[in-house]
Amino acid sequence: MKLIIMGAPGAGKGTQSAKISEKWNIPAVSTGDMLRAAVKEGTPMGVTAKSYMDAGQLVPDEVVIGIIKDYLSSDQCSNGFILDGFPRSIPQAEALDAMGVKMDAVLSIEVPDEKIVERMSGRRICSGCGASYHVLYNPPKATDVCDACGASLYIRDDDAAETVLKRLNTYHGTTEPLKDFYAAKGLLICVEGREKVEDTTAAVMQALSQFEA
Ligand code: ADP
Ligand code: ZN
Repeated sequence: MKLIIMGAPGAGKGTQSAKISEKWNIPAVSTGDMLRAAVKEGTPMGVTAKSYMDAGQLVPDEVVIGIIKDYLSSDQCSNGFILDGFPRSIPQAEALDAMGVKMDAVLSIEVPDEKIVERMSGRRICSGCGASYHVLYNPPKATDVCDACGASLYIRDDDAAETVLKRLNTYHGTTEPLKDFYAAKGLLICVEGREKVEDTTAAVMQALSQFEA
């Protein structure tokens, strides 16, 4: 199974991709997580990436295309994979095609802009494993502590309200055209993102059941 998950920032791509990864036993790769790891390590790529991310802009195509190329050529991807946050522009999608990667489906999680803004303000990320929480909709058992690994939770720099609006603009302008691109290939599946994580997961699993072996 080779799956792309797309959706506005904060639509719940990461959360759903973790669920699918577990159920289907295939790795999930988030370009956002990889970029944040590079930022944390302070690599030259991380330093470049941070300025774009904090401004709510996309990191240049050649940077993310490079990371994805390395990842997809590794052994762990031989049984399939989930791409979370890639491609995010038409040139990135074309680069994926040029790598000879044939996707099975593209899942778009649809959430209205007003909801996105509300959600992002409550988002918390684990500093240890990258798991994502929401203070109202998906709270950790103990405040600001990760259920999975016990590390502390933090607020992402790019979740500041004005940056969220910029990221939404970037999404509508640059990423959303991918829906037509993949619909034309017959790959697009749209699922409505719900208030509750479990409800969205149920809708996602239902939509993907047609691919079950
Ligand atoms: P979200 O989808 O919630 O915005 P991500 O963690 O997927 O969060 O991405 C965070 C930021 O990382 C993006 O706003 C962008 O700056 C950068 N980024 C992630 N993936 C890509 C990509 N495929 N192309 C360009 N920039 C990316
Ligand atoms: Zn954790």
